[in-house]
Amino acid sequence: MTDMLTRFRTVPKAGTTLDTPLIGWRYEWTDGQRLWNYSDDTARAALCYRRPSGINRPSRNHQAPHHRCVCGFRVVGDLDVLHTYMARRARFTEVVGLDRERPEGATGLVITKVEVTGYVTPAVPNRQVDPPFTVRADHLRLLKVYAPDWMDRDRIARANPEVPIKPLGELPRGFPGLKSGPLPEPELSISQHGDEIRIVLGLGPAIVPTALLQDPDVAWAVHGVANPGRSIDADVNTVIDRIVNVVRPDIAFKADQEAAAFGIAWTLDMMANSAESK
Ligand SMILES: [Zn+2]
Repeated sequence: MTDMLTRFRTVPKAGTTLDTPLIGWRYEWTDGQRLWNYSDDTARAALCYRRPSGINRPSRNHQAPHHRCVCGFRVVGDLDVLHTYMARRARFTEVVGLDRERPEGATGLVITKVEVTGYVTPAVPNRQVDPPFTVRADHLRLLKVYAPDWMDRDRIARANPEVPIKPLGELPRGFPGLKSGPLPEPELSISQHGDEIRIVLGLGPAIVPTALLQDPDVAWAVHGVANPGRSIDADVNTVIDRIVNVVRPDIAFKADQEAAAFGIAWTLDMMANSAESK
């Protein structure tokens, strides 16, 4: 198994074509029946998907994954890495009150064991995007599914007859974010009241005076966090210093402050865009 981890950790920056498959782990969305990326087939080929402003997007049409883009199916070689990532992700979602990745209709997550073949590249070099030693793959095949006990595993099995559906308890550890029941509805919301903007995060309300947003540096940082480019860290820190620490000084941990910065920036940016299009 150590050899497999080494293979995940040594994928060269510009990518490589695999001689033999990699076996790894990823999570998958489900509605309790269908598995999001495998509704037609247990094998998938990656396509480059568009993002609003495209992190490092090198060209309009390229084979996915591309080492200077963010596309490809993400797979890690180590369940501990996946566990750490999902714990951070679950806390982030709890603070924000919204999981932006969650597809419409999805009610939960399962852990999947997958096989990777073909062309691979390493993680996107930006700590906001991928856990360490992620491999981004162009060809993915589903081998096994581990679903928590609250899901009807027989129902998932009937919809996905080619793969074994196992209890999550068969894996050596639990996974934060998989929860004991269906995911809650999003809480994140925004509304304007006179010269104050009320943003309801998962952690509770943040009342932002509109005067705070009139500083062009703050407005620019909010836009940068909501539409990430290459240097997102500077924008995140500005939103933390100039908004989060002012309106919610009780949020103590840096990771929680970051999550609050994202929730605030997403909603403010959405409100600004909808005001512009009116
Ligand atoms: Zn791409």
